[in-house]
Amino acid sequence: MSSLAFLGGTDTVTGSKFLLTSGGRSLLVDCGMFQGPREISQLNWQDPPFAAAPPDEVLLTHAHIDHSGYLPRLAGRYAYEGPVRATAATVDLLGVMLPDAARLQEETAEYLNRKGYSRHHPALPLYTPEDAERALRLLQPAPYHEWFPVPVGQARLADAGHILGAAHVTVEVEGRRLVFSGDVGRWGIPVLKDPEPPAGADLLLLESTYGGRDHPDDLDPDSALAAIVKRVAGRRGVMVIPAFAVGRSQEILFRLRRLEDEGRVPALPVYLDSPMSIEATELYRAHVEEHDREMKALEQAGVAPFRPARLRLTRTVEESKRLNDLEPPFIVLSASGMATGGRVVHHLKRRLPFSQNLVAFVGYQAVGTLGRSLVDGAPRVHIHGDEVEVRAEVVMLDAFSAHADQGELLRWVQAAAPRRIALVHGEDEGRQALAGALREVFAGEVLLPARGDSLEV
Ligand code: ZN
Repeated sequence: MSSLAFLGGTDTVTGSKFLLTSGGRSLLVDCGMFQGPREISQLNWQDPPFAAAPPDEVLLTHAHIDHSGYLPRLAGRYAYEGPVRATAATVDLLGVMLPDAARLQEETAEYLNRKGYSRHHPALPLYTPEDAERALRLLQPAPYHEWFPVPVGQARLADAGHILGAAHVTVEVEGRRLVFSGDVGRWGIPVLKDPEPPAGADLLLLESTYGGRDHPDDLDPDSALAAIVKRVAGRRGVMVIPAFAVGRSQEILFRLRRLEDEGRVPALPVYLDSPMSIEATELYRAHVEEHDREMKALEQAGVAPFRPARLRLTRTVEESKRLNDLEPPFIVLSASGMATGGRVVHHLKRRLPFSQNLVAFVGYQAVGTLGRSLVDGAPRVHIHGDEVEVRAEVVMLDAFSAHADQGELLRWVQAAAPRRIALVHGEDEGRQALAGALREVFAGEVLLPARGDSLEV
């Protein structure tokens, strides 16, 4: 008999962890960190059910921290020493992302201690750079489109079209087939191949980030981006784009470069102000096995796909600070995507009070984040302890999502023809809406598991 435990990423979009157990062996699919407000991020400190007996193996869908960022905790605090399998591109991305996550943990703990904000004395990081190194040593690349053995049976990875290296995972266990969607990407976006349809599933774990939404199809992403670039250029403002270092940053660079090549926007200076984005962009170029046809053709023609004409890379903090005094108009692309930390927060503090500026969000903004407050129209926000007036124009470019919307998810599900669906990785609204839509077109069972639930499979 085999069972599946939902340990995270159920009614939240972070902390994805699913433990599959069969015949005394176990496989953890995704090892994500909880992120966001305190009541959610606190969950990282609770002992997981596998604290005493770590899983035999870990398999990752993709590199985003909400799917991978708990690995250093597993390798550090819980001394996990088994293999961690993921696609080759995911392995390379983690080499950049996990050390960065560890640094952020240490910086946050140090900040809390200095300010005396923590309820715990002293505040500790969830893990250290050494723990991240420990986790990185466990990584083993796994192939796409080939079955390979895992402790509970066999597994296979296929393109998810979400970020570089993202896969959906099929696991065969005791004659049953489970599909873990990971994050489902979108069709027809640049650089990466489209999501592949999943093979038939007895049980499908389906993400529902945008389960309650259909992305607008009246405005394509290029036109939306072109419109705001022209607007900011016209009024000599600064455009700040908070973007995830991995995924959205590369898509924005690609689209800006293409719009310039097509003569649809003026070539403004573009500052990529995130060391991690810079490294991730290199990996996007290097992993040619992930590229779609347009990308392959560009590379063959000698075009640098991610390089708008006046792109500048700012690596050091000093270079980043210099952007404060630069003559507009220009564009700053910086992390983090939900403005919960990173250099972009400094740029927001500097640019929000002025109406000629524009802040463009290009990804999902979780409840409780600075990004969400701005998108919801807050007239003032608190940044680094100061009250900041919001006079800049704030736009949400919905057309830019990296997640499939309701219609796209339904289309993807139909290919899997699952007997049962468990909706995961969604806030309440998205999950409920998608459950309603699924029940209209799908005869099987639709489950909405809570964190801690288990299921026989
Ligand atoms: Zn993701």
